[in-house]
Amino acid sequence: MTAEVRVTTPAKINLSLGVGPVRPDGYHPLATVYQAVSMYDEVVLRPADRGSTAITVTVSGDGVDVTDVPCHEDNLAARAVRLLGEHVGRELLVSLHLRKRIPVAGGLAGGSSDAAAALLGADALFELHTPRAELAALAAELGSDVPFCLTGGTAMGSGRGEQVTSVMSRGEYWWLVVPDPDGLSTAAVYAELDRLRAGRSARPPEVPDALLAALRAGDIEGLGRALSNDLAPAAVSLRPSLAPLLRAGSECSAHGALVSGSGPTTLFLCESPDHAEQVGEALAAVAGRNGLELAPPVVARGPVHGARVTAVHR
Ligand code: ATP
Repeated sequence: MTAEVRVTTPAKINLSLGVGPVRPDGYHPLATVYQAVSMYDEVVLRPADRGSTAITVTVSGDGVDVTDVPCHEDNLAARAVRLLGEHVGRELLVSLHLRKRIPVAGGLAGGSSDAAAALLGADALFELHTPRAELAALAAELGSDVPFCLTGGTAMGSGRGEQVTSVMSRGEYWWLVVPDPDGLSTAAVYAELDRLRAGRSARPPEVPDALLAALRAGDIEGLGRALSNDLAPAAVSLRPSLAPLLRAGSECSAHGALVSGSGPTTLFLCESPDHAEQVGEALAAVAGRNGLELAPPVVARGPVHGARVTAVHR
């Protein structure tokens, strides 16, 4: 039997996302609280076929459109394996298969999560035993969200999001996750934020104390009130159809409504799966009245673990 490693890896959401003024290196400083939620991609790694000289990538979508996911060496998962190979000084030739359930370009860090999974998976496939801290450093080189996708749970992110420290969080939360049929480019959303802010100075980003207190106490109402996202105005400016949905979310029984990361996925904080169903029905009614087509929502739980090896066959 061919050797194979399987890794499941979650979507991330940002409970708060504070964005500071753009830095000279082009990045925006962030102060964020991440939460990993129960929507998972699966990354399957096998040694490359004999004679193959490249990392190969195939992608399938399980309920998500994967047209825009690159099936070549630019895929973030392939870049992760290459970087690990450079780190250990040997070419790691693998075939990668990504089974995607995390919407693409949805503000849920699907690509970053695949990269975290590929780092872990390649490490396991080639029995490299790379120390965790080294994997985290490689993850930070790959992208701002990748270190969090390795650890999961609930955590604070600083720097450009890559400096992760875990946060005390009590209880579990349910989210109605409403994908948008068309993704938004993260770069375009940051550019729109800069355009909207032009002439006004942004304060250094902060995580709201009330959010951390609500998480410590497991207080869903307090959490709902403290949810925040500095990128939301830019995402709504580029995708105006998000506005009525967010308004409806704050008017129905959801505890809070939020744009996920750079959008356009929207999130509604709920008490239970049943409550999420009710919120979904209320939103569908609003979407119908506004002539909007709502993609089928997903009910997800958080916090969950980060990227995790689920099967190893040798
Ligand atoms: P983030 O929240 O980290 O900004 P996102 O969730 O908005 O990201 P992704 O799903 O990670 O967006 O994809 C953004 C783009 O990255 C895609 O449009 C695609 O071109 C490219 N990409 C590269 N590798 C992957 C991957 N493994 N999965 C999805 N997209 C990928």
